Amino acid sequence: MRQTATPTVNVRAHRMVVQAGDWRYHFDRTGRFLFGVRAHEVVRRGLDDRVVQVRTQAGAGITGRTYRTLNPEEKAAFYRRVYALARASLDSLPATEAARWRALLEGWTPEALAADAQAFRQVYLPISILPPDQYHALVVQITHGCSYNRCLFCDFYRDRRFHIKSEDELQVHLDRLQRFMGPRIADRSGVFLGDGNALVVPTGKLLTMMELVRERLGSSVGQDFYTFMDTFTLEHKTPEDLRRIYEQGLRTVYTGLETGSNRLRAFLRKPGTAEEAVAAMNRLKEAGYRIGVILMVGVGGPKFAREHLAATRQALNGIHFTPGDLVYLSPFVDPHDTGYDEQARAHALGAFTDEQTREELARWRRALASLPAKVTLYSIREHLYA
Ligand code: SF4
Repeated sequence: MRQTATPTVNVRAHRMVVQAGDWRYHFDRTGRFLFGVRAHEVVRRGLDDRVVQVRTQAGAGITGRTYRTLNPEEKAAFYRRVYALARASLDSLPATEAARWRALLEGWTPEALAADAQAFRQVYLPISILPPDQYHALVVQITHGCSYNRCLFCDFYRDRRFHIKSEDELQVHLDRLQRFMGPRIADRSGVFLGDGNALVVPTGKLLTMMELVRERLGSSVGQDFYTFMDTFTLEHKTPEDLRRIYEQGLRTVYTGLETGSNRLRAFLRKPGTAEEAVAAMNRLKEAGYRIGVILMVGVGGPKFAREHLAATRQALNGIHFTPGDLVYLSPFVDPHDTGYDEQARAHALGAFTDEQTREELARWRRALASLPAKVTLYSIREHLYA
């Protein structure tokens, strides 16, 4: 991350981009560091003040990436370096603009960035996961956690009880969120309704909450809504409910099908059958929604591999996809704290090496290439709400 050439700056769409050697560092409109990028390496800051370095290997794909969270000393040194580069780059801007950016940048010491993360934690419970195309949405936690919270492979919400916010709680959340985000709200594209399965909120209440969010955040941010859905609670929504929610602005729903194998689903303690999950997704399609279907490649290990792919292929064939829908291939990451390990050992499932996971992903890509939806990769290890 070192460079010696004189840095230059470019201001685009309220962002500052500093070019220093082969690195480009991005800062938001308030001067907060967002990310730095060069060939085969990205360093990203989350709003929780984690700074994660991602390195890629040419030709190794998603499984060849390495992730490292900078420790506090490395992070402070990194911030000092990039902010020094940013300040040094300002001479290439007109004087008044340079002065404005200098004042913004000077406020962001490592300590100020840590304090900013404290403020972030006053607004949100941890944002445990988002779909990869929603990292730039504005998350509004209308619920906390997951109403089921017992899938064997998932530890995203084990730290909290499921809770639907009251209107007063949502008002407080939105107050804090507006204070924290300030003018940056305008840089967000759409609203992601958290946490794990917000579509479980009763329809009348969900519509009221969406209305409130739109009123408070403005229709430019609150025009499009997104959320996760578990497939086993959609039975509480009638076609009329789904239509009203769609008309209120929720147009895209992401769901973890994980696998089409009912034996593997049972092992994973995923409620309901694959057939029921497919029926739920088709109900969304009939109501006009765009869907993102998440599949966990490698879960169940080599023992389930053939059945997992064959049954998932069959399940996907039953979904009435339309152009714009997405299918995510997500390499399985063992959470190590949910009992998956012990159960996998007890059932002699085995586990894939990175190289085998790469081969599995390639096999799945080939097998799903003819689907009418776009098939894309999704690494949960890349998640960082920034
Ligand atoms: S339904 Fe989704 S969020 Fe809830 S435990 Fe299962 S995988 Fe996790």
